[in-house]
This record gives sequence, structure tokens and C-alpha cells, in this order.
Amino acid sequence: MAAEVIQMTEDVINKEAIARAGKILKDGGLVAFPTETVYGLGGNAMDPTASMKIYAAKGRPSDNPLIVHIAEMKSLEKIVTNIPEKARILAEKYWPGPLTMILQKAEIVPMETTGGLNTVAVRFPSDKIAQELIRAAGGYVAAPSANTSGRPSPTTAEHVREDLGTVIDMILDGGPVGIGLESTIVDFTEEIPIVLRPGYISLEMLRETLGEVKMDKGLIAPDSKVRPKAPGMKYRHYAPKADLAIVKGPMEKVIAAINHFLKEDEKSGKKVGIIATEETKKYYSGGIVKCIGSREEEETIAHNLYEVLREFDQCEVNVIYSEEFYTPRMGQAIMNRLLKAAGHKIINVQEEAE
Ligand code: AMP
Ligand code: MG
Repeated sequence: MAAEVIQMTEDVINKEAIARAGKILKDGGLVAFPTETVYGLGGNAMDPTASMKIYAAKGRPSDNPLIVHIAEMKSLEKIVTNIPEKARILAEKYWPGPLTMILQKAEIVPMETTGGLNTVAVRFPSDKIAQELIRAAGGYVAAPSANTSGRPSPTTAEHVREDLGTVIDMILDGGPVGIGLESTIVDFTEEIPIVLRPGYISLEMLRETLGEVKMDKGLIAPDSKVRPKAPGMKYRHYAPKADLAIVKGPMEKVIAAINHFLKEDEKSGKKVGIIATEETKKYYSGGIVKCIGSREEEETIAHNLYEVLREFDQCEVNVIYSEEFYTPRMGQAIMNRLLKAAGHKIINVQEEAE
């Protein structure tokens, strides 16, 4: 059966629909909802059967744990055994917001929700629709991104409907999300906090608040033998249907190289997509050029990344070339997602020219 889609905004919340959605979750059903990062696929975090349903709906491996969403600071105490001082400081600064913390889990949290781990990922989202839903559901909602496993995360309710419209009960449509990339994940189960997934809250911002913070080794050297500590980061997520390559080097060389690849590929009958920016789009001589945003406003690039990848799936291109986007603050998060989408395929035009 098709999921019921209900529109609302953070300013005008449909209380009746929230109450029904809360009841669906309490009864073990699945409801997708907006957050400030991406859309989430919610189930009752305390119900092992609901968590299993989430894995099944997404086609997600069940060793890839879910994030437990809360809507009150004090809810945290019930699901973890210990809150280190640094975690408390960070929560005070960035919750509600795009921050997920990994802590030692309390007995009450089912192993199904944590993918068999003794730790639990917790987030307090700032989106008001998400908060109302979490409260209506009893306070603890397990929610991964509401996409089919392997597809780009959903940034609109329409993306959710495309992927999961026939396998979940309800979709709360709060319009396009704000940030467009998943939350920053920080692990507090070791002496020094470790970033397991970069996001809107950057490493520099974390260091400003906490002092020493490490980056997970598996993220820095993704091709090495070191496995990322977040089980989900090892998968080739966000993969578009076409082959995607990132072209790296000085901007003029990148543009020249992409124009060259475009000509060669078109000669052999391939349909080519190009991911460009406001600043560069006019320099491409053909292909399907999609503008991802402006280099002057890095938020626009984060916001549009998944939408652009989904659009390319629909135009059935065979190959996509993307510029790289090492922007000052969110560049690490943007490039982490783009590199995964590309299966780490990078064409370095600097080296080729030398
Ligand atoms: P998603 O829910 O799709 O945003 O993905 C959640 C991410 O959080 C995945 O990469 C998970 O592997 C990671 N994660 C969730 N719980 C834990 C945990 N207890 N320890 C480490 N990583 C986790
Ligand atoms: Mg996801």
C-alpha cells in the first residue's frame, strides 16, 4: 500500500497527523520525517521488531547501527550508561542540532537498534516536526536516512516516496531540508573524541569547543586497510547509476580536462553529465551540465549534492565528471560524500600534465 503523505511546516504543525504518526510508531510501524540534515526513516528505537523492519525497508545490512533520535536533553540519561564531561559540553553547545554522539549503551536499548554493538548513536534534531513526532512516539525514535540503501540520502519528501513509498506507513512532508548532508558523528567511547563522519559541524568547530579531537583513520585513508569505525562508512553509499569521477587540479585544467573527456566520450556514443558550479558552468562546451551551487556559498553545494546525483540517475547519463569542492568549512563533509559516490575514482589533471 502507498504511504500516506502529509504536508506541514515547522511553523504550522498538524497536531492530529503527528498524533497518528506517533501511534503508528508506538504500534511498531514506520514513519519518514524531515530533519535539518536529511529525511529520516523512523521506528520505535526500543522495539527490536521495529528496528528489523527499518533494515528490511531500506535493504540495509543489519550490522549497520541506527541513530536514536531524542527530543529532550534528559532522555539521553535513560539510554546510555555514562555521559563523559566532553559529551555534555558538546551537547549543550550543539543540541538540538546536526550532531550525533556515540556513547556506551544502557541495557534497555535493543541490540537490533545498535547493530549488535554495546554503544549507541544519539541525536537531538532541531527540526520542530521531528521533535513533535519523537515526543508523540514516546521519546526514542531510531532513524537512519530514509533512502533505499546505496541511493543518495533524501533531501525532499518526494525522494522518500521514490525509494520507500510502498513499504512504509506514512511520510511527513516538511518541504526541502536545510543542510542536506547527514549529521556529524563524534565517538566518545575512547579517551579522545573521534569524528566518525564529517558533517555541518566541522572538525575545527569541534576542536574549538573540546580541544583535542581526532579524525577516524578509516576516513582519512579510505583505500587503506584501516576500516572506518562507523560500520556504515565502509559501504559505497550514495552511488549514482552512472560512473562518477572527480577531476582534481587547478580550476582551468579541470575544466579543460572535463571538456576533453566530454568530446572523447561523446565520440564513443556516451551520454555525459558534468557537476559544475555557478562560477564554472559557462565554460563547459556540452553534455548535461548541472550546477550544484556557488563556491561563494558552500551551504548551497551541501544542500544540492544529493538532489543533483538523483537527477543524473533520471537523465540516464553513462558517465559523470565532477569538479572537487574543498570549500573552507563543509568541504570535508561534501568531499567525503562525493568521494564515496565516486567509489574514490579521482582523475588528477595536475599529475597527468606533468
Ligand atoms: P544513517 O542513519 O544512514 O545516517 O547512518 C548512521 C551512521 O551512524 C552509520 O554510518 C552507522 O554506522 C553509524 N553509527 C550508528 N551507531 C553507531 C555506533 N554505535 N558506533 C559507530 N557508528 C555508529
Ligand atoms: Mg544513510
